Order: sequence, then structure tokens, then C-alpha cells
Amino acid sequence: MDRKRKKRSWAEPYKIKMVELLKMTSYEERKKALEHAGYNTFLLRSRDVYIDLLTDSGTSAMSDRQWAGMMVGDEAYAGSENFYHLEAAVQKYYGYRYMIPTHQGRGAENIISKIMIKQGDIVPGNMYFTTTRLHQELAGGTFVDIIIDEAHDSQNTHPFKGNVNIEKLESLIKIYGAKKIPYVSVATSVNMAGGQPISMENLRELRALTLKHGIKIIHDMTRVAENAWFIKQREKGYQNKSVKSIVKEICSLTDGATMSAKKDALVNIGGFLAMNDKALYDEASNMVVVYEGLHTYGGLAGRDMEAMAIGITESVDDDHIRARVGQVEYLGNKLLHAKIPIVIPIGGHGIFIDAKRFLPHLKQTQFPAQVLAAEIYLDSGVRTMERGIVSAGRNKDTGDHYYPELELVRLTISRRVYTQAHMDVVAESIQEVFQNRKKIRGLKMTYEPKYLRFFQARFKKS
Ligand SMILES: *Cc1c(COP(=O)(O)O)cnc(C)c1O
Repeated sequence: MDRKRKKRSWAEPYKIKMVELLKMTSYEERKKALEHAGYNTFLLRSRDVYIDLLTDSGTSAMSDRQWAGMMVGDEAYAGSENFYHLEAAVQKYYGYRYMIPTHQGRGAENIISKIMIKQGDIVPGNMYFTTTRLHQELAGGTFVDIIIDEAHDSQNTHPFKGNVNIEKLESLIKIYGAKKIPYVSVATSVNMAGGQPISMENLRELRALTLKHGIKIIHDMTRVAENAWFIKQREKGYQNKSVKSIVKEICSLTDGATMSAKKDALVNIGGFLAMNDKALYDEASNMVVVYEGLHTYGGLAGRDMEAMAIGITESVDDDHIRARVGQVEYLGNKLLHAKIPIVIPIGGHGIFIDAKRFLPHLKQTQFPAQVLAAEIYLDSGVRTMERGIVSAGRNKDTGDHYYPELELVRLTISRRVYTQAHMDVVAESIQEVFQNRKKIRGLKMTYEPKYLRFFQARFKKS
């Protein structure tokens, strides 16, 4: 980035060639839709949504080059040309030696968990992610959170709230022994903490400790490029390095990775499992045929793999990430200015409203984040989602809810999709809801699915 451009706004490094029309709804229509959806924004129909901040997963706008790539899909069952393009992109930008495509991130999580975790194992990680932890538990492991305590405090401004507390890991090794810990599950740009990065220094310390004990590091690299951007902004010695080189350095400190390419990598569907160890690769290539498809397509069409290969290249570009994170910060700063309680520092992929502080009159068992997401939709047709007690689920041994410290509503920003004016509307709506917050009542859960309940649970007003 040259010196002159540093002063300029984060404006998008692309222009718009095709648009998708949005439907505007009335308050009455939204009220009906919300009741029909059991106050769960996951159960709304997309046609009833105006600005969709439910998730940044699979919702990116692909570039003209990616769409062109779709046209050169080699739909051979085995050995598709696009597979080799994807493999080359993973090797070039991430540095992992072997790559197996999967239909999305959880496909990779399933395979790595089944291969590496034995009954009774401990899997430490820097805060849980819903699907990741579930696969670890289904494989017989127990997830243990070893993120630094600052991550659980929405107002703590630590620049790297995704860091691992090395002492917590050391004490786990002491208690259980390294043999019971197949790997440490390390996420970059920790989703559940509010899109908070891990520092390179912390990763290096973690690498040193795990090498000493023969413990592997499996990297959840879903948002690695956003993490790299924060390292460039905040960590000493990285200001003049490119996002590309930082991404590669992060990956070099880990043994393998699961990727949901629906996030950073700018595609609507896809993921992969990557690793450096040949024996592990052989085992995973065998397992993938059971759950996903042959190891050269893993549940994806050739065209999907091509779009992913191109998306990876675009995702590690400094100008792209600067605008991506810039837009998130734009919305976050607007909300901070209006005194809305959000998680700080502002994260990489979205804004996280602190529902406990937004609705202090509600108990956590009244699902404050769930009801706040519903109220925001009712006000403006903006769809957000809960990341609190509903997402956290239940303890598999005691059957009680997990009571996470963070009770959040996530406003996730899709990549290259919405404009600054859309962000203004979102901020206006949240301010409106904030002004009327005292009138908001809690919810009761009326239907609770067994797995990942936040997707399909239903509620009514209590
Ligand atoms: C989305 C996500 C996953 C799961 O990926 P899917 O593609 O949705 O299966 C795993 N980890 C993190 C951090 C994610 O955000």
C-alpha cells in the first residue's frame, strides 16, 4: 500500500456489475413472519428479509473471474482439472502440503475428529465453535476452552482476544498427560469471541509448547485472512508485511487445517481439510469417500472447486481485506457513537451486540440475545442471529444449559454484498430498538432440537 492511499477511506476495490433486488416489508408482514418462524431468525424465509446479516457463510458476492471459473468446471468424477487448481492454491497461499475438498467446513471437521480423537480424549481450543465442538464430542472427545480470560469480557480491549492462555494448556497437559491430547484446536479470528484475532507471538509460543509434548495443532482457518489483517495492524514487526505472507506464516505454525471456504474464501459452498503429514492424508483420503465423495472432489462440483481456487487468491489481497474489515468497522463505530453496547475491539466479520447490557432487565434463561435479534428484524427487516445461551447448547453430562459469559447478537457482514448506505440503515434500526429496549420482554423455548439447537429451536413471548 503506498503512502498516499493510507489517508483514504476503505472504499471497495471493485465496482458492481449485477444487482439483486430486495423486497421491502411492512411491520405487519414482519410480525406475522416472525411468529411463523417461532422467533428464530434462522426460520425466516429469505424473501421476508431486507438486509441479511444472519451470517457471512456462503453469502459472499463472487467476482466476474470466479463466475468465469464456474464455466470451466471439469465435471469428471475423478482427477478433475479444477481439483488440481484448488490444490495448487492451497499449497501456494497456505503452504499445506495435502488438501482434500469437502462439501463445507464441518465435513472436514467430521473427518479430522474421527481420525485423530479417541474416546476420553481432551481437545483444548481457543473458544468453542458450534460444529467443531460437536464433531469433537461425537468422536468421544471433550472440548476444553483455553482462550485467555479477556475474550469472555465484551468490554476488554485486549488487541488479541483470540489468544490461547498457555498456562491453561500446560495445566491440562499436567492433569491429563500429553497422550490424551491429540491436538489443540486453534481458530484464527475467533468467531464466538466476536471475530477476535490471535497474535503471531502467541501462536509461536503455542507451537513451541506443543512441539515439546508431541501435540499437534489443527487450525480452523475459516477466517485466517481477516486475522492476518489484524496482525498487520496491531502486532509489532508486521506493518510492512503483506496479508499473503502473514497468512502463510500463520499456517506454517500449525500441522493441518479445516476450512469453511464459505467465509474468507469467497464462495457460496465448499471447504477442505489440509495437512502436512502423509500418513494422516492417506487416512483422510480413505475416510472422505465414506462421508463426502472421492478425495479429488469431496462433495463438490468441479466448478465449485474452481471458484474456490480463484476466491482464495482474491481473499488474501491486502486491498480486499482492508475494505472488508473497513466496512465492519464503519458499522461498529456508528453503533459505538450511539452508545450501543457492542463487543470491542470491533471484530473482523461482524458486530456483536452485548445483549446482557442491552437488555439488563432480562435473565439469561429468558434468551435476551434471541429476543433482541427478533426485535431488530421486527423493526426493520434486518436479520441477525443469536450467539448466546441458545447457541451454547447443553452440557452432555449434566443436561443443563451452558451459561456462556457472552450473550451476543451477531450482525455478520457478507463480503462484497452490501453498501455503506445499508450499514447506515442497520445502525438507525438498532438505535430505534435501543430507545425502546425497556419494553422488550423475554422468550420461552417451545421446541428444542437435540443437536445445534440454535438452528431450529422455536420460541414464544413469555
Ligand atoms: C462456519 C464455521 C465452521 C463450519 O463451517 P461450515 O462450512 O458452516 O460447515 C467452522 N468454524 C468456524 C469458525 C466457522 O465460522
